[in-house]
This record gives sequence, C-alpha cells and structure tokens, in this order.
Amino acid sequence: MEKSDNKNCCDHAAVFGSEEMLKPSPVDTIPQHGTRPEIAYQMVKDETFAQTQPRLNLATFVTTYMDPFATKLMNEAIAINYIDETEYPRVAVMNAKCINIVANLWNSPEQNKWKTGALAIGSSEACMLGGVAAWLRWKERRMAQGKPTDKPNFIISTGYQVVWEKFADLWQIEMRTVPLSLEKPTLDPQEVIKRCDENTICVVPIQGVTWTGLNDDVEALDKALDEYNARTHHDIPIHVDAASGGFILPFLYPEKRWDFRLKWVLSISTSGHKYGLVYPGLGWVVWKDKKYLPGKMSFSVNYLGADITQVGLNFSRPAAQILGQYYQFIRLGYEGYKQVQHNSMEIARYLHQEIGKMTPFVNYCQEVVNPLFIWFMCRTYSKTAKWTLYDLQDKLKQSGWMVPAYTMPKDIEEMVVMRIVVRQGFSRDMADMLLDDMRAAIADLEKLEHPTPSRLAMERNEHHCNKMFTHTGCRKK
Ligand SMILES: *Cc1c(COP(=O)(O)O)cnc(C)c1O
Repeated sequence: MEKSDNKNCCDHAAVFGSEEMLKPSPVDTIPQHGTRPEIAYQMVKDETFAQTQPRLNLATFVTTYMDPFATKLMNEAIAINYIDETEYPRVAVMNAKCINIVANLWNSPEQNKWKTGALAIGSSEACMLGGVAAWLRWKERRMAQGKPTDKPNFIISTGYQVVWEKFADLWQIEMRTVPLSLEKPTLDPQEVIKRCDENTICVVPIQGVTWTGLNDDVEALDKALDEYNARTHHDIPIHVDAASGGFILPFLYPEKRWDFRLKWVLSISTSGHKYGLVYPGLGWVVWKDKKYLPGKMSFSVNYLGADITQVGLNFSRPAAQILGQYYQFIRLGYEGYKQVQHNSMEIARYLHQEIGKMTPFVNYCQEVVNPLFIWFMCRTYSKTAKWTLYDLQDKLKQSGWMVPAYTMPKDIEEMVVMRIVVRQGFSRDMADMLLDDMRAAIADLEKLEHPTPSRLAMERNEHHCNKMFTHTGCRKK
C-alpha cells in the first residue's frame, strides 16, 4: 500500500517521517490542504533555524533579552489589540501611566494628571508624530499671519536615521542637513542657525546618533535658537530624537540638560524597544504640554463602544509591549534601569578599550557616551592590509556574531567603520569571547597571500581612500 493512502499511518508518522518533510514549502500559492500543526510548526520554525542568535547580534539596538516573567506576561497578552480600549480599559490606563513615567523621566513641566504623549510602534512612528505636530503648529501660525505654508523645512545632521528621510518624502517637507565631519562629529548649532528661516518647522538633534553613538549638544542648540528666535520671532522649536538616549540619559547623566528643562524642546521621542528594555515594537513620543499637540492629530472613534481619542499613525496594534514596559518600570525601578544601563556602558567601554588596542584599529571617538561605538582601520595598517572590515564582518559571522561594517553618511562616506551596540543580555564574559574571536579572525586575515575582493574594490576607489587617509591617520600612541 502507498504510504499516502494509509491515513492511519500518516496521522501517526513522526514529524520527520511525514510526507510533508519531503516536499518544498509553499512559495506562491496557499496549499490546497492543511498540515498537522506539529509539522507546520516545525517547518516554520526550521526556516529561521540557521539565523544568528539574537543575542549575538551586535548590530541591532532592539531588545533581545527580557526576563521570564516579562516574557510570560507579554505572551499572555499576545491576543490583545490595544485599540479595543473599551474591552481592555486598563490597558489604556496602563499606557497613560507609562507616558506619565516617561514624561517625568524627561522632566516634563506639564501640570495635568495625564501627560501629553502617545504610544507608537517604534521611534519611527514616534518621530513622525513629533514631526507632524511641529509642521501643523507651524502651519496654523503661518495661516493666522496670512503667510504661505507651501515650503516647510526642518534641520538635522547628516547622521539622521532613515525615518527622517521618510518623513521628508512622505510629508513633502524639505530636509536641510548639516554635514558631520571628523572634526565636527555632532550637530553644530551655528551651522543650524545658518539654515533656519521663517519656513523651518523644527530642528531635530539626536541623542544616540545611529551612526556614531554620540549625542548632539541640545543645550547649546537651545541657546543658539533662543538668540535666533529673539531676533527673528520665528519661534523655531526642537524635537529631540532620543531613540537610544531617551532611556540612557535619565539614568546615567540625570544632571545633563537635553530634555524638557530646555526652553525650545517641545517634543521628544524614544524607542521603548531599545534601551526601554522591551521586545519590539514600542515607541513613545511626549509633548511638553497639551497645547503643543495640535487638535487635528487626535482622532475620535465611537464604534468600539465608547468615544475614544487616539493619536497615532496605526490603528490596531499589539498591547503586549505596554504590559512589558510597565512591568520593566515596576520590576527594575529607577535604580534597576540605572544598573542595567551602567553595565551595558561598562561593557561597551571595555570593548572600546580592547579594540582600540588592536594594531589594525582606531576608535572613532575617545569617549563612549552611549553603550555603542564605532572604529575604523588606521592608515598605516590599511596601506598594506589585504583585507577590509567587511571581511572581518564575514569572518565573525562564521562564529555566530553579527558585527556590521558600513560606510559613513554623506561627506565622509569614504570612511568604512564597524559598530558594536551593547544591550542588556551581553555580559563581560561574552565580550571576552567576542574579542577572542576577533583576534583569531584578524590572525587568519593577516595570513592571506592575496587581497580579498573587498580589498580590491577598495583599491579601485583609491583616490577616495587617499582623501580619507589624510584625515584618519593612526592616532595611537
Ligand atoms: C532606531 C532609531 C530610529 C528608528 O527607531 P525604530 O524604533 O527602529 O523605529 C530613529 N532614530 C534614531 C536616532 C534611531 O537610533
């Protein structure tokens, strides 16, 4: 008898004894018949089996470790849709409590019981909401003055995260960039002022620049804008993109003024799923006061059983992250967050120091201000090397590590760097394992007789390299 004709046999076949395990998985069309759940599970699970372990991924900023209670709590809430506030009113309240806590970490002066903010799927949505609010506020003011509103712009450094390019393109708002250089690795307030005019809706400094890990000087920017605004009455505000820094600064540098303590900072966004220590996707945006959130951005719907006000680009979204964030606030407390961020920072500093000692490398900055940093290959070494950082990235991948190599933004794009982001879940012991794997990989690369394809490609761009090399000599002692 054919195996497939024997229903009884197949119902009892072991997962790997089944017919399905001999067939390719569906690519184009839905299969005609269903499959036993344990087989379907195994097929889906195994498709991702060979990927990097999330905690060995040092490229991402996003949380890859939460404790078992947080995980249980979030799994138990997996079926909850946040938007069904009538069905789950306590989730809406918990969300508002999280917004209050975040607002107070950022020194909100708002007196209302419930601070003005919104939940988002990540910093991208939170940045969009902050940007749109600035645009609408600008537009209302211009219209009241009888002035045109067709040419809005905003100002940011070339170290912007891609969401700001989306914001510019999707809302048709001109993005004016201030170039970063090795001499000026963060946003220069005087360069910002040169680009300001009556059509500037806001300036966006970044806390935890994705490319470098550095912080723009918001206090200096606020001061420069204050003088400019007094002179011109353009009243240009600041939106801080604190995707990473929003959950680092309040714990490790509480005295540093980058937040609502500054006059022109009217909104701040962050990623709850980065150093907020929650699994993806969660973002927060907070306004300094209700009056800075344009009424147009609050939408009311009445078909869920009550009148519900919602601020956000999404409608339905999972609620589990809110439970995860609230859990972390209770579980860790201020001191607990401080300890976790402190450890990430210490381990980042340790790696920074050890990598800085390796012959081929120079750190981009001597200081580590967020738990991430970048480095590059020093000129003297690079002159005769047969490999590039891309080759090192490939080598490390063989031991399971994801350590990305990439080129820097516009104007310093000739420069190839490598980055490590340290997060909760990465210990000193793992750092030592990584360093050993790096040393072994470099020793292997140094044995090469012929240049690698990526090295050859780099040499074809030699004139670019020469240009860079005049800036990036070996700064080591
Ligand atoms: C990560 C990041 C974003 C985008 O955040 P998501 O939470 O991934 O949507 C925006 N800005 C900066 C500076 C970031 O680091």
